Parts: sequence; C-alpha cells; structure tokens
Amino acid sequence: MTSSGLKDVVVPLPIQIVIDDVGWWTPTDGSAKDEPFRSGMPRAHVPADYVAIARLGNRLGMRPQAAMMLCDWDRDLLLRELPEATWMGRDWNHPWCEHPHLDEAAQILNDEADHLEIVVHGLAHEWWGGPTMERAEWANPEGVMRPRHLLERHLEVYAAILRRNGLAGEHEGLPPFFVPCAFRHSFGEGSDGIAGLLAQVGISYVSTPFSSMRQLATPQTDRIAIECGVMTVDRGGGSPSWKHVAASPPEAVDGPIIGLHWPNLLHQDPSRNDEVIDDWVAALTRIGQAPDRWLAPDTPSAWSQLAHVECTQIVQDGNGIGFDFTALDALPSTVALGEFVVKTTQRSPPRFAAGVHVLDSTWNPGGHHWLTRLAR
Ligand SMILES: [Zn+2]
Repeated sequence: MTSSGLKDVVVPLPIQIVIDDVGWWTPTDGSAKDEPFRSGMPRAHVPADYVAIARLGNRLGMRPQAAMMLCDWDRDLLLRELPEATWMGRDWNHPWCEHPHLDEAAQILNDEADHLEIVVHGLAHEWWGGPTMERAEWANPEGVMRPRHLLERHLEVYAAILRRNGLAGEHEGLPPFFVPCAFRHSFGEGSDGIAGLLAQVGISYVSTPFSSMRQLATPQTDRIAIECGVMTVDRGGGSPSWKHVAASPPEAVDGPIIGLHWPNLLHQDPSRNDEVIDDWVAALTRIGQAPDRWLAPDTPSAWSQLAHVECTQIVQDGNGIGFDFTALDALPSTVALGEFVVKTTQRSPPRFAAGVHVLDSTWNPGGHHWLTRLAR
C-alpha cells in the first residue's frame, strides 16, 4: 500500500531565500548610459544593509543567499585587466577603494557567516565586449555563454576580490553557490558549457528561472537540472519588482526559492531596516509552519530536500513510514542528497519502517506537526 490520501506524512517543499545584487555601494540604475542597472536603491548602500540580511537569517534559523556583485569592492582595480567586465574598460576606477564601509561590511559578513551565504553573482553584472553594454556577464540575452577563457578570468578575479576583502571564508576561494546575472543561463552543453566551467571552480549549487534558461537538454525533473555534477534549481517567478523598496512579504510560497532583490528587504531609512526584516520574518515563519513547507537552514539542505520532494516516494503500510528512492537514485551524480525531512501531522510521534535512518524528531506546537530529519 502506498501513501494514504490523508497526507498525514509529507516531504515538505523546501524554501530558500535568494537576494540578488547585494554588494553594490553605488545604487544608481545606470542602464540608460551604458552602466549597470545596479541595485536601483534610491539611497547609497550602507553596512546596515548587510546587518539586515544577517538579521533575516538569524531570526529564521536560515542562511539566505547574498548573491554578490563585487566591482565596488575592487580595491586594487583588478578589473582594468578585464576591459569587457566594466563600462570603463582599461580606465576602470570607482570611488569606494578606500572607503571604510568595505571593512565594516566585511566584518559583518564574517561575524554573521552562520546567518547568510555569500554567493557568486558577478563583477559588474553586464558585458562591455562590444560597442554598447549587453546583458549579461555570463551569457548573452539568448543564454549563449560568453567566451570561456574570459569567464575563467572573471571567476579568478571574483575570487581575488573576495580574498582581498577577507571574504573568502572557509572556501579559500569561490563559494560553491552561483546565480547567473540577469538569469541569462543555459543547460545541456555539458563540460563545454557554463556548468562545466562552474564545476571546474567548485561551484555546484545554482538557481535561475527555468523559463528563461536556454535548454539544450531536458531537465531531469520539473525543478531540477543536473549536469557536470552541478545542480540547478528552478527559481520560478512572481517576486516583488526589483526596484521595490521595503516590499511586502508574500502570503504564500509555491516554489523552492523566494527570489528577491536587495532593496526589497531594505528601508529608505537604513536605521529602519529592521522593520522590513521583521515583517518578512513574521510572514516566513507563518509560511514555514505549514505541513507542506519547510524553511531550509541552508542551500545544501534545500537542494537535497527538493530532490526528495521531486523523487522520493512515501511508502506507508502496517510497518510504519518507509521510502522508495528509485527515482532519486536515477538522478545523475551531483551534490549530497543524503538528508531530508518529513512532516507528520498526527499527534503521536511518527513510526518509521525498519531500516529508515532517523536523525531526530521534534514536535512543532505552532504548526501542529512533527518534523523528522532523516538520512539515507
Ligand atoms: Zn543580478
């Protein structure tokens, strides 16, 4: 007998928060004059804008992704060596090289490393390899990858800027997470494509909307695309508009990613950022109480959980709750998929079939369910 229609056992959809375009100090949308769109925030960014991200993560017990732009952190003007990476080419310069905000923000990012994830996003977001600015840094508007030898340099310089600012953290180089600029991305080119390049530099966790991803192969499931060991998750759509400052949180979440733009979580007055964050914390806490949703503590947990949502079958009979991992095991090899959670809504503790490896089980009084962590 397979799972009953009562849905008293659920592999809940994970939720991870992805915040794009963190890292700009200059906020101005420069797209009308061949400069980057930047964050569009109607005031300059300040270190308190990093505190806001950490507060969100800390209060939710999550590590939201801070997908970072780094050209405003380029203290040594390394981007002069990559003329296609900025609107100034070999004359690249910017006003933030000596600014104390960089040290202050780096300190916050390091002190709060347990409450956020630094994610590779880009250097200056767009591409200046032709007569005018083009979207975007990693691929053109059709999703065709930029020349690989240049992108290798972009990733090297990205890592160098992280190191120079003391942000390389435990990874000593690039973090294993990536969001393509402007969601220009492709899937299905194997080791010659962007996934092959990302795998080469140790990046294995990617997200982008599948609706705008160039697809030369069919993703393995509706929301998962794996190649070269890299697992790309469908970000979906339906986010607040990118320039919306202090956006209201959603009533419900129907995909694994809440895709946000930094200003969505910030206040026009940075001393009031907490008010915006606390609204999001309240809304997401409520959403996470649902038996079929789970606020994932970090990206590896979220990606693993999503694979189980897509592939793992619940098998429930007189012996207790068990699982069929046939479809999961048929996925190509990729990031660790060993752990997942289930929620059970009966008041009595869940009873699992012999052989199921339970890590721990806790009763959630607010959501009236048991949350059980399991391992393969
Ligand atoms: Zn972006």
